[in-house]
Parts: sequence; C-alpha cells; structure tokens
Amino acid sequence: MQTLSSYVQGRWHTATTGARPLHDPTTEEALAECSTDGIDFARVLEHARDVGGPALRRLTFLERGELLKKLSKAIHEHREELIELSIKNAGTTRGDAKFDLDGATGTLASYAFFAKEAGARGFLSDGGGVQLGRTARFWGQHVFVPKTGVAVHINAFNFPAWNMAEKMACALLAGVPVVEKPGTPTAFVAWRVAQIVVDSGILPEGAFQFLCGGVGDLLDHMGAQDVLAFTGSSGTGAKLRGNANLVRHNVHVNIEADSLNAAILGPDVDFDSETYGLFLANVELDMIQKTGQKCTAVRRIFVPHDKVERVSADLVASLARITVGNPADKGTRMGPLASQSQFEGVRAGIEALQKSARTLTGGSEADQEKGWFVTPTLLLAEDADTDVFHELEVFGPVATILPYSGTADEAVRLTNRGGGGLVASVYANDRSWTKEVVLGLGPWHGRVWTANDRVAEQTLPPGMVLPAALHGGPGRAGGGGELGGLRGLEAYLQRTAIQGFQGWIDGDFGPVKEQA
Ligand code: NAP
Repeated sequence: MQTLSSYVQGRWHTATTGARPLHDPTTEEALAECSTDGIDFARVLEHARDVGGPALRRLTFLERGELLKKLSKAIHEHREELIELSIKNAGTTRGDAKFDLDGATGTLASYAFFAKEAGARGFLSDGGGVQLGRTARFWGQHVFVPKTGVAVHINAFNFPAWNMAEKMACALLAGVPVVEKPGTPTAFVAWRVAQIVVDSGILPEGAFQFLCGGVGDLLDHMGAQDVLAFTGSSGTGAKLRGNANLVRHNVHVNIEADSLNAAILGPDVDFDSETYGLFLANVELDMIQKTGQKCTAVRRIFVPHDKVERVSADLVASLARITVGNPADKGTRMGPLASQSQFEGVRAGIEALQKSARTLTGGSEADQEKGWFVTPTLLLAEDADTDVFHELEVFGPVATILPYSGTADEAVRLTNRGGGGLVASVYANDRSWTKEVVLGLGPWHGRVWTANDRVAEQTLPPGMVLPAALHGGPGRAGGGGELGGLRGLEAYLQRTAIQGFQGWIDGDFGPVKEQA
C-alpha cells in the first residue's frame, strides 16, 4: 500500500510506525496510509522561523503575489490528475472535485491580484495618519508588519485543496511561512498538491512544510509570533484553543468551526418569481454538493407557515431527481460521505433529528452494495423552537424545514438560535423587511447573503466562499475570520502604531501616494 509522506525541514519524511489508513469511500477499499511518527516538531517550527520566514520577508507583497500566481498555475496544470484523486479518496463527483480544486487555484490567483493593492513594500499602512501633538509635526500612523513566526494550519477533511490553499495564500502573502496539515481521511489530494508545490521549487526553502498525519506535540512548541489557524469541528477547535502552551504565550488562534447555516424565505416571495426559483436551486445545491459536507451548507430552512406545503413538495420533487452513486459515473449527482466515521455520524444525526421532525424524503442508507452512502434527507420540524435543530450539525446531505410566522423578528430570533453562523441567506423582495432581518442577523453571522428578483440571475450561491468576502463567524462558528481580500492577512501581521516626526513617519510608513 502507498505511504504518504510529510515534507519537513527540506526533505520528505516517511514514517514506519503509527500508520493511519485512507479509504475509497465508494468501495471502502484502503488506498494508502500516513503517519508523522519520528518527526521532531520543534525543529519543524524552527526551520520555518529561521529559514522560511526571513526569505519571505525579504520580498515585497508584489513579489510574494508573483509566487502565489505561479503556485496557482503549477497546481492547475495537474487539475485532471487531482480530480481523479479526489473522486477516489474523497468520494466527490467531478463537479465537487472541481469546486475544491478550482477554489484552491482561484484563491491563490485572487491573492496574487490583491498583492497589487498592497504594493511593492514589505508592510501595509493601516488607513491614513493622524495628528497626535499640538501641531501636525508629532504624527501617528498605524501599520501592519509581518509576524516573525510560523503559521500552523490544521485543515478539515472536506476541502483538502481549497482549505490548504486559502490559508496558505494569506499567510505567504503576509510573509509568514506555513506548516500545513490536512484532515487525514482525504489527505491524498492535499499530499499530491504538496508534492506539486515542493517539486515546483517556487517557494523559498522553509516557506512550506507539510504534515501528513497527526501534529504530535507541535502546539506545545509554538510561541508568541506564531499563528494557529484551524478549520474543523467546534469540539476540536475548543480543545486546541485550550492548549496550555498556546494560552500561556497568547498565540493567535483563528478557528473556523461548524455552523447551522440558515436559508430564510421571506413572506412576500411569490412561487412564480425568480427569487423563489433561486431559493429552491440553492437549497438543493447546498444539500447535495460535496454530499452536504460543506461548512457553509444550509441546515435550517425557515419557511413561512402558509408556504410550507408548497416548499416541501417542491424540494422533495427536486431531491427525487438526484442520482446517488459511484461518483466516477457521469450520471451521478451525489457521491458517498467521505469516511466511515462521517457515515456513522450522519446516520446518528438523522436519527436524532427525526425524534422531533417528520421525514419528507430520504433518511436512509442509499441502495448500494458497498460504500458510505446516504440519501438526501429533508425533514419537517414539528416545532421550529426545538433545541436539536439549533444545536446539532449533521455534516451530510441533511436539512430541516422550520416553519415560522414570516415576521422579521421571528426570522432573526430563530436563526440566531444557531449560536453564531458562517452564513445566512435571505430571499425576499420587501426591502425594509430584508434590512431589518440583515441587521438582526449581523451580530451573529460572518456573512449575510440576500437575493431578490432584481439580482437573482446574477448571484453566486451562498455556500460559495469567495476570496474577496469574509469567511468565518462568531460563537459556534469559531469566532474566526479568513479571506475578505487583504483583511485575510491580518492574522499574520502585527498592527503597530508608529509615532514621531511627521516628515519621517508619513514619508516612510504612510499610505502610498498616487503618482501625479
Ligand atoms: P475535525 O475532526 O475537528 O478535524 C479537523 C482537523 O483537526 C483535522 O485535520 C484533524 O486531524 C485535526 N485534529 C483533530 N483532533 C486534533 C487534535 N487533538 N490535535 C490537533 N489536530 C487535531 O473536523 P473534520 O471532521 O475534519 O471536519 C468537519 C467539521 O469541520 C465540520 O464540523 C465542519 O462544519 C467544519 N468545517 C468548518 C469550516 C469553516 O471554514 N468554518 C470549513 C470546513 C469544515 P485528523 O484528520 O488527522 O484527525
């Protein structure tokens, strides 16, 4: 069986003990194994800090942007091979594999573009300067300078390429070296991307290291200039945040965790409107794309009482058209869940929801001889206020219709019961109703997505994370923030207020002046 190695301290390390298997979720066949046994994690961090960091910080944002552009191209050249690997190890359809891979290369390319805004300097000015003294002679300017540590990225299994690339793009552009660790069950794609990155020779030595398997005692060696960015479940996030060494050194920790994302149908939406068509299409897409294993997928569908019957019938009809099966087959719209533990978790989750909801469609294993398949499952809550719908994330093709009164107040109250989300989508043509809902959801969501008849044909789906818009959310969603253009670099930069003689401070650290 193939053993997937790690890239540390400038060489590939293949462990001989502690192997964990990776499977094909369609056939349950073991494909490969990996382990990080034998790696000296303290030395991994030192290598990044001593070799990779200085090399990156010698470059300007523009030069680092060039590296990202080349990386994007190098990975894209292997697109077909990576799609095949994703189908095999992650059980994705071709379309789902592209979503992950094109998201990865697209985000790297976007950050290469954002680098132009940052310019040919090694630090960023944060807004304009400010007079601090009696006259403007004593001046202040906030700047962002790169941290001198290392960015440790612990990623979730569901986006092996994108999750690594979106974190790398921000850290490397900021001038901070990375240590990447993918979720083990689907690490094949990430491992191959790591090979491509290393073989390309694009990045300076020490700027990129890759761990295929566990992180051992790595967190215990992190320090005040380092950053931990984690994507995964809130349970693991809480465990990592509580690491005594991270707490002691106030290591910056960014957590992207789970979220009970909501789709809210407004009371004014007509069934023959474009907005309603979009609502149906987006709910269906979120339920089946990546077999529902998407942190931004809709889990709660809020529908006014008088529309529940029609919405239920329409969604059941559209889900009935979804072919579940081998993701390598052309006609398949939805593949298996990515691992056996995912499968067991989703089955248990459906059972828990079913105690308080009627099953409109699905709710069972799919009819396949082998593999970790379930059917798209749509439920209808008996009472929208029941705790389980606002507390349990079932990370699969599962969503629940929650009937509500149609008032803005109730839409906000029920949605915010999720305790903090990545995204909520709002479908309505009534502007003042929408504004009230948006402002009510804002404090509890990283992103509020809206659609009406005037924009319906131009929207990108709410589940799609875009490099130019913030990704992250408060509370249960982890309290973190990634992406959002140059905002995504902030975790890797230190904001410093520089004070002194205006002539120097403004000239050396102020915003780049437009050429006359
Ligand atoms: P997970 O079980 O929490 O694992 C996430 C990552 O943490 C994996 O790389 C895992 O490694 C690692 N890990 C687990 N225990 C660890 C420990 N004690 N020390 C260090 N690392 C540890 O989550 P998952 O099952 O991969 O992903 C699904 C969850 O992620 C869902 O809840 C989903 O909502 C969430 N998610 C959130 C976002 C977001 O952006 N907010 C995006 C995608 C997914 P191993 O795989 O080696 O165990």
